[in-house]
Amino acid sequence: MKSNVIYQALEPMGFFSAGQLCMGTWKEYTVTLRPYNGRYYYLDVAVRADKASKGLLKRVKASVKEACGKNLGCINGGQYFRFVVAFNRKSPFTEQFGSYMTAISSAFKKNGIYPPHSCAVCGSSDPDSLCLYGDSYQPVHRACIQRSLENSRQKIEQNKANGSYLTGFVGALLGMLVGSLASVLSIVFADRIYALLFALVPIASAWGYRKFNGRMDKVSVVLVVLLSFVSIFIMNYLSIAVFYMQDYALSLGEAMWFASDLLLTAGGLMLIV
Ligand SMILES: [Zn+2]
Repeated sequence: MKSNVIYQALEPMGFFSAGQLCMGTWKEYTVTLRPYNGRYYYLDVAVRADKASKGLLKRVKASVKEACGKNLGCINGGQYFRFVVAFNRKSPFTEQFGSYMTAISSAFKKNGIYPPHSCAVCGSSDPDSLCLYGDSYQPVHRACIQRSLENSRQKIEQNKANGSYLTGFVGALLGMLVGSLASVLSIVFADRIYALLFALVPIASAWGYRKFNGRMDKVSVVLVVLLSFVSIFIMNYLSIAVFYMQDYALSLGEAMWFASDLLLTAGGLMLIV
């Protein structure tokens, strides 16, 4: 089902779409719809719920099933409840949407959850506006959103004025080394490389770049990606050195020299890359 067909059907109810998202209010609930996994949709309903309570999630799920006869996948995001829903062509979309919302709101009521009366940003009462905040459409104070926009604008301005590729590079390099550590340890001690640990490298590198006040733009992205590739090279080099140490009983220093000798021959280079 094409999302824009469904979104258009909801427009008369005051819903509007932005990209993949569709937002609006149903009765007092603030709602976000987005496609999920092809056939499905995430239906996020803004609430203020205890995220840590596992029982609450179970009870809401059971109450929804009781109300609409369907078992909807459900997540408690604290500031929203997310339901996995599907639409079909058998009846108007507004009708299907309405019956989901009716079931959800009655399930909420049964479990002591009410439409949110606090701002998603600061948590205090009487929100005066609605805004896409974080992951979902939320009641907020206009002033709170303006403040957080102003803060990020200032940060960007500051970064433009003071951010440096050089300090960023140092940070990214350190981050890359820290990020590679887990992979190196797994090479040394377990003789294997876990793909998941590799994912740490660009993340740590980007984190280091940011922490060291690196200038954020396209160059920084390229830098982090390049460094991550370099780290793969270094890790391969290390794993060869470790291999020499273990199989030929060489010291670390000797093994590293042997591994670098390999680097200088084309065949060895192929072996490493
Ligand atoms: Zn606020």
